[in-house]
Amino acid sequence: MPAMPAFETWLRPDDHGLYCVPGDFYIDPHAVVARAVITHGHSDHARAGHGAVLATEETLDIMRLRLGEFAGGQLQAIAYGDVLTMGDVTVRVVPAGHILGSAQIVIEYRGRRAVVSGDYKRHPDVTCLPFEPITCDLFITEATFGLPVFCHEPDHGEIGKLLASLAAFPERTHQVGVYSLGKCQRLIALLRQAGYDRPIWLHGALRAMTDYYMSRGIELGHVPAVAAATDMLAGEIVLSPPSAIGDRWSRRLAEPLASFASGWMRIRGRVRQRGVELPLVISDHADWPELLDTIRETGAEEIWVTHGREEALVHAVEAMGLKARALALVGREDEPE
Ligand SMILES: [Zn+2]
Ligand SMILES: [Zn+2]
Repeated sequence: MPAMPAFETWLRPDDHGLYCVPGDFYIDPHAVVARAVITHGHSDHARAGHGAVLATEETLDIMRLRLGEFAGGQLQAIAYGDVLTMGDVTVRVVPAGHILGSAQIVIEYRGRRAVVSGDYKRHPDVTCLPFEPITCDLFITEATFGLPVFCHEPDHGEIGKLLASLAAFPERTHQVGVYSLGKCQRLIALLRQAGYDRPIWLHGALRAMTDYYMSRGIELGHVPAVAAATDMLAGEIVLSPPSAIGDRWSRRLAEPLASFASGWMRIRGRVRQRGVELPLVISDHADWPELLDTIRETGAEEIWVTHGREEALVHAVEAMGLKARALALVGREDEPE
């Protein structure tokens, strides 16, 4: 039997991103390319201007909403479970549990299987399909929260803190900073799960994605616009982009109590730096135990780490007796999380 080609001969990071040589496409490239396969709609993964884009229907819709005519030259949808042949490889996508439409990319070449996780999490999330572990030879994982300090609490406990604060300070508007794609809709869904049935007020920048989620059948209840409020919303929950916390926009609110829902709220310095009174550790990325468990579960012999805290995870993977490599792809700063 001929020796298996090393993964590096067919999957290669270069100055545009991660390139699949026998398939002739990039995965989540950060520079403009002829053919891109996109894991999900966040801006650090789904960039403008590629020639051809392959992604789930939801990711393509999100790209159209975000990028308009610059979403790509030719947009092709792939459903979860569908298998496509691209050059000498086959490609399929499976749920990543990160945001609506998010996908892991499964690539098979000469009897070997590589899985590119994109961003993912294992915590339950009713706004998207759950992460599906896939057995593979090479697992290419993110590591946004790849340090042992990152161990996300159960979400219902964080939601409980928000509701307790609301009960304790009914004269204040609770302004929660959330990213517009994913976190916003998940926070609303978590509040609804906790039985909160009052209106949840939205900053205008959160409208398009929230309407899109609802158009895909995700129940979020009554989510009126802050601009339509007739008073200062004392005792109400207002969601806004993180950048609106403490800025002029917030002056319309009643003694706004600044909150922020993000995995980064684990870090005290970030809480202080943002002037956050009520940090909520709610993340759409795998925490440290989830990263390690997922790596084990894939059964992969080799692990590549795309972005985040690469060194710590590479070290931990090597300690598990597996081969590990940091890809150090550019263009992935701290995750908008
Ligand atoms: Zn993401
Ligand atoms: Zn990301």
